[in-house]
Amino acid sequence: MEHNILGGVWAQSAGIMSGLVPPQRMGTYLATPRHHLGQALIDEVVDAFGDAAATPAKTYTRSWGTAPWTQGYVTAWRPGDVMGVGPLHGKSEPPFYVCGSDQWLSGHMEGAVRTGRGVAREILTSR
Ligand SMILES: Cc1cc2nc3c(=O)[nH]c(=O)nc-3n(C[C@H](O)[C@H](O)[C@H](O)COP(=O)(O)OP(=O)(O)OC[C@H]3O[C@@H](n4cnc5c(N)ncnc54)[C@H](O)[C@@H]3O)c2cc1C
Repeated sequence: MEHNILGGVWAQSAGIMSGLVPPQRMGTYLATPRHHLGQALIDEVVDAFGDAAATPAKTYTRSWGTAPWTQGYVTAWRPGDVMGVGPLHGKSEPPFYVCGSDQWLSGHMEGAVRTGRGVAREILTSR
């Protein structure tokens, strides 16, 4: 069976597996009838890891890609956007400060924390 929906999967903790649907497969994910979705995802996991994965105790899906306040996983800069912003990327212009994972190298927690701490330090030392 081909993997049509799932992208990467990883061990979240002992006995718990997480997976993501990459943007290019969102169409297939959304078009899969909800009552088939759980089994379709399990089939893909079984295909990758074998029959032991066929009977999970519980499955849970959350559609971050269509949730209005997330609209995806990490910040998605379109090709050309970062170069368009250029050297202004991640730069504050006091009293206007910018921080957040989209102002870092990649849109993850690390960037949110680093840029947040950086801006907090800047504000505190500018007083
Ligand atoms: C499903 C999912 C899984 C993820 N997993 C990981 C992971 O495993 N590891 C990892 O490193 N990262 C992960 N991320 C990414 C990580 O969560 C984000 O990169 C990070 O939380 C972004 O932090 P931020 O402070 O830049 O922005 P946000 O956390 O988005 O904070 C922005 C805040 O501003 C508020 N806001 C927006 N507009 C306004 C406004 N006009 N006025 C006032 N407030 C406003 C919002 O309500 C929000 O609280 C994941 C993200 C998602 C969605």
